[in-house]
Amino acid sequence: MSLFNPRVRSERRSGQIAIALYRIAQAIQIMLRRAGQAHRLSPAQVQALLFLAYARPGVRTIGGLAQRLQTTMATASEVADALEHKGLAVREPWPEDHRIIGLRLTASGRRRVADLEHLLDDLEAAIAELPPEDQQTLHRALQRVVRRLAAGGHIVVYEMCWGCAFFRPNVHPENPSAPHHCAFMDAPLPDADTYTECPDFTPREEVPA
Ligand code: SF4
Repeated sequence: MSLFNPRVRSERRSGQIAIALYRIAQAIQIMLRRAGQAHRLSPAQVQALLFLAYARPGVRTIGGLAQRLQTTMATASEVADALEHKGLAVREPWPEDHRIIGLRLTASGRRRVADLEHLLDDLEAAIAELPPEDQQTLHRALQRVVRRLAAGGHIVVYEMCWGCAFFRPNVHPENPSAPHHCAFMDAPLPDADTYTECPDFTPREEVPA
């Protein structure tokens, strides 16, 4: 029985909530589109700029962008072409592997990100109007829904290191430029990188100690 049928979903709360989330997803698409239109950018280009601003440096590549946009390498390359053409990003060689193409924001790209990054403010304001206990309940419930969707392969959760099961903080005190460690990549981490979004983030509580 379809939850798109209002009569059907009126009889079950899970269906009403799923439709509410569907509407919120539509609203976010519209916010993305409007923010982009103001700067002559497509929604994919807006997402690509935000990705290049906040993703872990090691994934700022054409392949990383394809994963972020959940699209093909060819489509990600077209998005990169458009950003390069507008002077907002540049391709650059990847030091460790010449088959990988890195992407970097230009100074204009960083300024454009500053113009765009408030596009979800209305959504946050609507949530901020809820009483704190409702926000806490909503947060906990949505985290469970997001994890279930991630486990089902519907989304990739990008988060920073500090809640990640693979994060080993301050284990290289002798190396001030990279004092932390990622056990997933088995590599030292500069402090600044630990505050960026990583597609390999794994919530600490999902991995047995
Ligand atoms: S896997 Fe975890 S610890 Fe490693 S870079 Fe990603 S978020 Fe940080």
